Amino acid sequence: MCNLCTPISRRAFCGGALTLPLTRLGHRPAGAPPLLEPALRLTGTGSATRTVAITLDCCPGHFDQRIVSVLISHNIPATLFLTAIWMRQNPAALALLKAHPDIFSLQNHGAQHLPPVLGHDKIFGLTPAGSLDAIRAEVLNGAAAITAATGQAPTWYRGAAALYSPETIPFIEFLGFRIAGYSLNSDEGASLPTATVAARISAAQNTDVIEGHINQPGRASGAGIAAGLIKLQQSGTRFIHLTDITT
Ligand SMILES: [Zn+2]
Repeated sequence: MCNLCTPISRRAFCGGALTLPLTRLGHRPAGAPPLLEPALRLTGTGSATRTVAITLDCCPGHFDQRIVSVLISHNIPATLFLTAIWMRQNPAALALLKAHPDIFSLQNHGAQHLPPVLGHDKIFGLTPAGSLDAIRAEVLNGAAAITAATGQAPTWYRGAAALYSPETIPFIEFLGFRIAGYSLNSDEGASLPTATVAARISAAQNTDVIEGHINQPGRASGAGIAAGLIKLQQSGTRFIHLTDITT
């Protein structure tokens, strides 16, 4: 049904020819294995109709009403990755998400938004979990918080910064979670202007898993996500949840 979660290096993910902003990751220790950025596409969707999944991260922060209003008013299924921190910060938003279970699939973005990376070097300014024990706590406590809040256990996990030390991927899968990679980064950490984000999303290809952020209402990117999703839907695109993938 699908061909998912193939871990590839960030370099390979972008075709091998591009130099990606690895400098933003800070200094990796000499000899440290490269971090992985798993790719994920939908396969076996059973239709020639363009089918995509929109996945949005609730890193610590706020709630982007521009995006959620479009998702609800246009009945667009979305998979949201929640941190336990975000849930504590945004109880009213969490209640809104829970009130629309057909639209929002609530999945695991960790307890404290600690990248599942070994060692001590910061990842995009984030302190990594650092050890397998800490990664276990980050993943399982994040899942427990969602289960406690919603009554439903998450089955997908996306690490903070979406980068992984190689050995952590089978470890997290052993804990019972599928790794939520993506194939289309829409907003580069909510850093891109509205028009760029809208253009990226509206140009999505069949089977794309789109990633973006719904925790940054003060940035221009969110307006681009909202506009891009409307355009995609108007073009006849079908949206599914990651949980609709059965294999
Ligand atoms: Zn995040």
